[in-house]
Amino acid sequence: MLTKPIQEEEKQSQKDSTIGSYWITTFGCQMNKADSERMAGTLEKIGYSRAVDEFKADLVLYNTCTIRDSAQQKVYSFLGKQVKRKHNSPKLKLVVAGCLAQQEGESLLRRVPEIDLIMGPQHVNNLENLLSRVDSGNQVVATEETFISEDITNARRDSSICGWVNVIYGCNERCSYCVVPSVRGKEQSRYPYAIKNEIKTLAHNNFKEVTLLGQNIDAYGRDLPGLKKDGTKENTLTDLLYFIHDVEGIRRIRFATSHPRYFSKRLIKACYELDKVCEHFHIPFQSGNDEILRSMARGYSINKYKKIIENIRLLMPNASITADAIVAFPGETDQQYRDTLKLITEIGFDQVMTAAYSPRPNTPAAIWDNQIPEEVKKERLKEINELVDKTARKRNQRYLNNIESVLIEGLNPKNTSQMMGRTRTNRLTFVDIPKNNEFNYLIGEEHNIKITEARSFSLSGQIYN
Ligand code: SF4
Repeated sequence: MLTKPIQEEEKQSQKDSTIGSYWITTFGCQMNKADSERMAGTLEKIGYSRAVDEFKADLVLYNTCTIRDSAQQKVYSFLGKQVKRKHNSPKLKLVVAGCLAQQEGESLLRRVPEIDLIMGPQHVNNLENLLSRVDSGNQVVATEETFISEDITNARRDSSICGWVNVIYGCNERCSYCVVPSVRGKEQSRYPYAIKNEIKTLAHNNFKEVTLLGQNIDAYGRDLPGLKKDGTKENTLTDLLYFIHDVEGIRRIRFATSHPRYFSKRLIKACYELDKVCEHFHIPFQSGNDEILRSMARGYSINKYKKIIENIRLLMPNASITADAIVAFPGETDQQYRDTLKLITEIGFDQVMTAAYSPRPNTPAAIWDNQIPEEVKKERLKEINELVDKTARKRNQRYLNNIESVLIEGLNPKNTSQMMGRTRTNRLTFVDIPKNNEFNYLIGEEHNIKITEARSFSLSGQIYN
């Protein structure tokens, strides 16, 4: 099934025949960003046009996150402003989607009775039907577990160069701190042909890069039928990479988020062999201490984790390794916390997304009595962020004076005398606009860039002919 992203003139004709304007605010992860693009596509298909301002829109949709309490509180503050608006303009439609909607369901209506539609992440493809029920005067809550049918929407993508492609929804793991399984449901893999079709469509529309998405992408295919002669699963992430690699026009393939428990040597070999697969691996380790990993129910040891990084660097020494880490997990002693710092120094990560443990509803660790005091959480977070910054800055010096291939994605919104893009290792790179001020032809293509400056989390450079 080939679907075509919406073209300018099509958007204009839609504008003339719109039923109103919409605004989507997305909180949280790449999965939510991809879901929001699909919901925007549906809204435009049924006749809405994009509003210029959140406070002028006829339909406001918050695609929410609940990974930490701060994310949850943020949604309520946004909702508060729209509720005031709704009291003056009752026609305003308020939609709350995503993980907080799934977690709270009906109780969100009791807290904010002005909401028209509450829909969990599994119902993204069902937005049109749900809105038609709202239009017939109902207040709708759609959070029942459901099979995610194949994607029928033509996503309204934020980028015209890099595209998100969902390959597996949900997660069957049971990490003791994580709310994802209870809000995104069981693993549901898309069929390889459907994924390839979507990538062909993107290539057909001049996209150059795709990022395959899954909460635990190494679980891809576990729920799909089919076994190889040796009894192993027919469809795995590695097989999928080989299967989609020949799509013409696509230059770069990325994937996230990996799980050390299932990260295989076969996958590393595939990433090394397949030219388009970029040398960037995002593999959350969460803690540098085995005892904490056991109480997190992560299912691997630090030695196993280190072995994975070693195997990657054996074949791809320059690959970038990024991760996630949680500090102040219940019961974490100062020594166990220092093990996390030690691992960061030992591995020399390109970047680590850090967070202090936040108790989440319906997760085992939230009710444990060995919670860490807030002030200790703050101290540990401050210290680990300083170390991550220092480590990344040191690691990034390897790019200095190098010629790197950078896919130029557009102008730097913060400094329009620069363009921005990323290296194959996913380093954000700012590129000076050539003296003749001609740059449009550079956007959407890979260019050799001489790196002149290396900071902790970004690079700068010039076009190198
Ligand atoms: S693998 Fe663990 S941390 Fe990741 S989404 Fe699943 S339960 Fe959450």
